[in-house]
Amino acid sequence: MTVQATARVIPIGIHDNAWRDDFFEFLNETADRILRETLMEKIEDFTRAVLDAKSDILGQLTLGFIKNRHRPLFEQEYCDCPVCGKRVKCANKEAKRKVESLGGSFFLCRPYFHCKNCGTGFCPLDEALGLASSPKQYDIQDIEAWLSSELPFKTAEEAYERTTGNSLSTGHMHETTKKIADGIGILDVCPTKTEILQIIDDIAKNNFRRPVMMLAIDGAHAPTRPEPSPRKGKRGKGEWKEIKGLRLYLIDGNRIVHLISWHQVGTDRELAADLRTIAKAGLIPEDRVRLCVIGDGADRIWNRTSELFPTAKIVLDFWHCSEHLHEAANAQFGKGTPEARTLVEASLTRLFDNDPDNVIAEFRSIKPDSKTAEEKINGVVRYLLNHEEGVNYGKAKRGGYHIGSGAIESANKFIGHVRLKRSGAWWYKSNANNILKLRCAKYNGTYEKIVKKFVETDREKTYRRA
Ligand SMILES: [Zn+2]
Repeated sequence: MTVQATARVIPIGIHDNAWRDDFFEFLNETADRILRETLMEKIEDFTRAVLDAKSDILGQLTLGFIKNRHRPLFEQEYCDCPVCGKRVKCANKEAKRKVESLGGSFFLCRPYFHCKNCGTGFCPLDEALGLASSPKQYDIQDIEAWLSSELPFKTAEEAYERTTGNSLSTGHMHETTKKIADGIGILDVCPTKTEILQIIDDIAKNNFRRPVMMLAIDGAHAPTRPEPSPRKGKRGKGEWKEIKGLRLYLIDGNRIVHLISWHQVGTDRELAADLRTIAKAGLIPEDRVRLCVIGDGADRIWNRTSELFPTAKIVLDFWHCSEHLHEAANAQFGKGTPEARTLVEASLTRLFDNDPDNVIAEFRSIKPDSKTAEEKINGVVRYLLNHEEGVNYGKAKRGGYHIGSGAIESANKFIGHVRLKRSGAWWYKSNANNILKLRCAKYNGTYEKIVKKFVETDREKTYRRA
């Protein structure tokens, strides 16, 4: 015997053939019924007839395979109680439940046991199969959450029905999405430390300096409403709340290598806590990269970031800074005037020459024409004084850092806006955050991981014994 032959994975195999007779009998009956009841002429008539029966046919095949594999559990007469260990006689040999999955739907008739000693009711076959407590199994639940995080619930329901031929309710989609997303924490949607280090190593190989890792921080807005709002009647007043977002990525030449996006409706404090969690998990290895934090300088989160990453380079979003300069110049000289343009261009050139001091001096030397101009000019001076380090754009650019926060703005749009900003949609904060979590996971390539974790946890909960 060759080594290869011995190493081959051995399939489960055929244990009995009794299920085949049942399945083929069902198939024959179904074919007869379709031929009897359906008028088929054009291709769509045939495929529609098959599609309509598909779920039942595949369901019976699935059931056949289950019988083949787990026959003894269909015939079990006695079983030890999983809680107290007492030997229990089967209470109902054919307890019936519905099982719906992408691989078909069927009724499962299996032995049910009830322990009189401790009051526990159980079906050993359910546990062996790891069945979800809902008729809709985990593969369907996965699709429900996947579609709901992409489309409005009503459209998601329709998309499911149109593509699978099976039905689903909006309510169930809503619940499933909530169930899957509720348990997700920030680290669940992140790649692991090992994965991140591997990516860094791959980029570092071709480069003389350590790769630049950008941590972009930005806010966006989500339409929310008070939670809970009455189901009928007047809903609470809608309110725009801030989605705090972060995006962590590497720069490899002209390429952005995405690592982590995380966006949640919440506070600066919560975002700072999430950042701390990421850092503690080793996902921002400051010794392996040149870390740079970019944002618009919104005060509180900014200070926390510098506390968390004291060695990071700080860059203030270039467009944001330029907007400040424009506002002040326009207030003083009038919008679009040559004087305003000259002042802005000269200031930006100086910032690219690492000369913020002279920009500050220039703005200080202006004698304001109005109260508004005075406020705006003072604003610019304050802004530059507070962020002197972050506006050295020339130096930052030469170092290979990004000076604009376009990368997170596009994430804001893709992760938040396209799903949350729909006409008439005002979200509970918790639901909005659940959708955001799922979308972040998709964007970060960790969606499969969170679904896997959900299935494991839910199974553990369903079959956990006291
Ligand atoms: Zn018991």
